[in-house]
Formats: sequence, C-alpha cells, structure tokens
Amino acid sequence: MKNYHFNKRILVTGGAGFLGSHLCERLIKEGHDVVCVDNFFTGRRRNVAHLLDNPQFEILRHDITFSLFVEVDEIYNLACPASPIHYQHDPVQTTKTSVIGAINMLGLAKRVGAKIFQASTSEVYGDPDVHPQTEAYWGRVNPIGPRSCYDEGKRCAETLFFDYYRQNDVKIKVARIFNTYGPNMHPNDGRVVSNFIMQALRGEPITIYGDGQQTRSFCYVSDLIDGFLKLMDSADDISGPINLGNPGEFTMLELAETVIKLTGSKSELVYEELPEDDPKQRQPDITQAKEKLGWEPTVSLEEGLKPTIKYFKQYV
Ligand code: NAD
Ligand code: UDP
Repeated sequence: MKNYHFNKRILVTGGAGFLGSHLCERLIKEGHDVVCVDNFFTGRRRNVAHLLDNPQFEILRHDITFSLFVEVDEIYNLACPASPIHYQHDPVQTTKTSVIGAINMLGLAKRVGAKIFQASTSEVYGDPDVHPQTEAYWGRVNPIGPRSCYDEGKRCAETLFFDYYRQNDVKIKVARIFNTYGPNMHPNDGRVVSNFIMQALRGEPITIYGDGQQTRSFCYVSDLIDGFLKLMDSADDISGPINLGNPGEFTMLELAETVIKLTGSKSELVYEELPEDDPKQRQPDITQAKEKLGWEPTVSLEEGLKPTIKYFKQYV
C-alpha cells in the first residue's frame, strides 16, 4: 500500500543507537515519518528522547532477529552493535542480528516493495593488504577469530542483499561505513574515540593498544548521515557497495595527541596489549562516493572532535 502523502514512511532499525539517532533526527527534519525499531542492547532512549513527542516519530522495542510487519517506503538497516566490546559480548547474537536480521528486513522490503539500505562496514576488508581500500577489494578476514561474528556476519548480510537484488529485484543500497564518531556515542562503548576522550576528560591514563602505530580514518557523524541520504536517494542502478568515510588517516598515537591537545588534559599514555586480529591500517578510497553520489566529507578531525568532547563532558 503506497503512502498517500509526499513524505515517506521510513523504518530505521537500530534507530536508538549512535548513528541511528542522528539518522532519525535528520529524516524527521526532511519531513518524513520515522518508525524507529531497537532492542536497546547498545542503544538508549535518551538518544531519541527529544523526538518522542514528535508526531512524525514512532518507537518500537523489537529485536530484528524476529519478524516485523510494518508498511514503509524505505528501510535503513542499522541494527547491530558496532563496538568490538559490545559485538564480542554475545557473538552468536551478533551473527544472528546481521544474518537473520538481514533476512527479516529484506523479506519485509520484498513484501512491501520498500527500498532498503544496509549499514555494512569497512570490517568486511578485515586486516587489509590493499591500502587504501577500494570497493573492488575482497578483504582479508579471519573466519574464526573474535571479530568474525561481526565481520563475517556483515559479509553474509551483503551476500543476502545482493541475492535479494538479483533474485527478487529488491532495491538495495549497501554502504561500507568507516570509523565514525560524534555526539550520542555510548561513553563506555570501548571504541577508541570515546575511550580517549573520556580518559582525557577524567585525567586518567590514555590506553594505547599495541604501539599505537595502527591507523584509522575518522568521519564526523553529520558527514556520514549526508552520505546515507545521498546513497538512498541515488539512481536505482547504484546499489553499491560504496565506501563512506573520511580519507584523513591517523595513527592512534596521533589521535591521542589531538585529544589531549583539545581537552587540555594532563593524561599520560599507557600501552596495553593489541587485541587479536586488530587491523593495522584502514583508509577508505571514496572515489565512487565522489563520482556517483557527489559526496565527500567536509568536517576535519579537529573540527569534529570539539562538539564530541563537549557532548562527553556530561558523563565525567
Ligand atoms: P550502536 O551500537 O550505537 O547502534 C546499534 C543499534 O542497534 C543500537 O541501538 C542497538 O540497541 C541496536 N540493536 C542491536 N542489535 C539489535 C537487534 N537484534 N534488534 C534491534 N536492534 C538492535 O552502533 P552505531 O555506531 O550506531 O552503528 C550502527 C550501524 O552502523 C551498525 O550496523 C554498525 O555495524 C554500522 N557501522 C558503524 C560504524 C561506526 O563507526 N559507528 C562503522 C561501520 C559500520
Ligand atoms: N584502541 C586503542 N585504545 C583504546 C581503544 C581502541 O588504542 O582504548 C585502538 C584499537 O586497538 C584499534 C583502534 O584503536 O586499533 C580503533 O579501535 P575501535 O575499537 O574504535 O574500532 P575498530 O578496531 O573496530 O576500527
């Protein structure tokens, strides 16, 4: 049943999480009706508290490993814990969320004729030996390690998306998201940006895993959400997978130094063991996003860290 109105009805799974909450807010601003679905494993009602009274917004406690029936025009499938600590907490549930969740959401998209977006990840490239990573690279992923529940779950979800596309003509949009940060991140989620900022603000030692020479490329959340909307609204023949991330590449030591400078912290650095299978380098090649979507990030690391640090101050 098609919508009678100009605005779209949009389902956001994982809508109470970090990225999901920004996406819900943005879609509402664009005039759409949003159904936010979340099991609140890592997401929080406070991330969307400001939207709860808005008639364009609806929230549903639901686990996407179970069937869901809603009439919508578009689906953004974001549900899945993203921080290594959280996704390794219950690895079987992580794989179920990615795989069974994808089957459920793709089945829903097929049934109601909705276009569906998948929040895939740079983790599909594993510990990459091609640098920077292009979408054509197949990756180097350990299938049986502690990160596999996430990496292989997301890889299988991509497989399902492309099979539903080929077999059932479902309109798909697959984004491979690189490390993103900003307000609404969980202060205890163990990711590097939240860890370093919380440690710096509390004057606690900053924990560098390994020698700190491993690299990541950090995208500010508002840039990423722009990319989500551009991909969803792109021509039907653009299915991806398409890299979304900021190509600015930093070592973890450089990130620590920047956080210390911006917070004015006196924290010292401490070195801890590098987690198993921790990728040594990561940088997106965003040629496709530039050419096909006209998208590229605009917020530098220092610019993006400032509002992020301000947000984390409430938790100190
Ligand atoms: P997050 O942990 O803040 O958000 C994930 C949300 O999904 C949470 O609200 C959580 O409660 C919900 N959720 C988890 N399992 C669920 C289930 N079975 N049913 C319903 N809801 C469930 O993480 P995030 O950073 O906002 O990431 C959102 C998506 O983007 C994830 O799919 C993640 O893999 C992907 N991604 C994020 C990044 C990043 O840097 N933030 C990078 C690559 C990919
Ligand atoms: N990291 C670190 N100290 C921390 C948390 C993470 O040095 O307190 C490192 C981690 O080993 C990895 C990088 O920061 O090399 C990014 O880690 P994160 O968990 O944020 O994301 P991912 O490894 O999934 O990219």
